[in-house]
Amino acid sequence: MFLDYAELWVKAGRGGDGCLSFRREKYVPKGGPDGGDGGDGGSVILTVDPQLHTLIDYRYRSRYQAGRGEHGKGKNRHGKKGKDVVLRVPPGTVVRDVERGALLGDLTRPGQQLVVARGGRGGRGNARFATPTHRAPREFEPGQPGEERHLVLELKLIADVGLVGKPNAGKSTLLSKISAARPKIAPYPFTTLQPNLGIVRLSDLRSFVVADIPGLIEGAHQGKGLGLQFLRHIERTRILAYLIDPVDPQQGDPENTFAVLQEELRAYSPDLLGKPVVVILTKKDAWPEPDLDERLAKKLPYPLFSISALTGQGLSELVEALWKQLTELNRAEAATSCPENAESF
Ligand code: GDP
Ligand code: MG
Repeated sequence: MFLDYAELWVKAGRGGDGCLSFRREKYVPKGGPDGGDGGDGGSVILTVDPQLHTLIDYRYRSRYQAGRGEHGKGKNRHGKKGKDVVLRVPPGTVVRDVERGALLGDLTRPGQQLVVARGGRGGRGNARFATPTHRAPREFEPGQPGEERHLVLELKLIADVGLVGKPNAGKSTLLSKISAARPKIAPYPFTTLQPNLGIVRLSDLRSFVVADIPGLIEGAHQGKGLGLQFLRHIERTRILAYLIDPVDPQQGDPENTFAVLQEELRAYSPDLLGKPVVVILTKKDAWPEPDLDERLAKKLPYPLFSISALTGQGLSELVEALWKQLTELNRAEAATSCPENAESF
């Protein structure tokens, strides 16, 4: 299973101090105590946002501090509460406290919240300490410190798009170009020993997850090569993208390559063949004939894309088309999963 992982250092705000003050008014010689309470410190709160699918934002920023409470003031004015920091996480995020090794929460429901660092309480001002026999109290409390925690967030990711292809077809290079992932790239087979995950970000907060599945070779389902252990990872992807290098003689004829790849998947699990398919012809910059794809389009009856990861040609079209297809799949799933509820919206 793919895991997205992030470490966070969160600190809640300190409570404001209570105030020591006495009323001062003209012609009132001994005013009573009027020191207000300090405000509570702000907390750090995680909240589930179903629009999010990854923890990628927390790779760029991992320290968060909530606001401190204001100190109390004279004339019984209480300090303002510190500002909370609300951090959005995707459904399925598991939260652990690193120092204590404790599980703090399993965030699954949209809108579910978890306070991961509680703000310190504000101190009481001296007005609170007045009693009939103790009319000029000089006591007041300092604010309490906010909680501080080192957290680990984990999310099980389901790759939306799985890249399958023979070794050297250009999977890792493509992933490195369309996502922030930096897989190992080398011009020989089996450089990819682990499935790599990349998060593809489009404009307007749109993102999806792509998995680079290590090279399949003939017989992978029988345990040959490195294919088998990784085939497992594609079971849950939504779209299968077959990458085919149409030029390299070692890769063989594209039509045949496609059939071989499909056969590998079928032998592992026939269900895989039920997934939507796109075919990506790679390395367009090195093609001897530029309209090779037109010829192949007739032979491979699937959405066909031609790209060069080297020059960037065709990449944005590919990414947008994948996004569109994923959105349509989502819509179709939503429509079929709860038909009887559809009217209540
Ligand atoms: P993988 O085994 O499918 O992950 O393939 P890689 O991404 O490691 O690429 C295999 C080889 O093809 C490397 O030498 C890459 O530099 C090369 N390659 C990948 N994409 C392109 C491309 O768009 N154009 C050219 N000319 N070479 C590419
Ligand atoms: Mg690779």
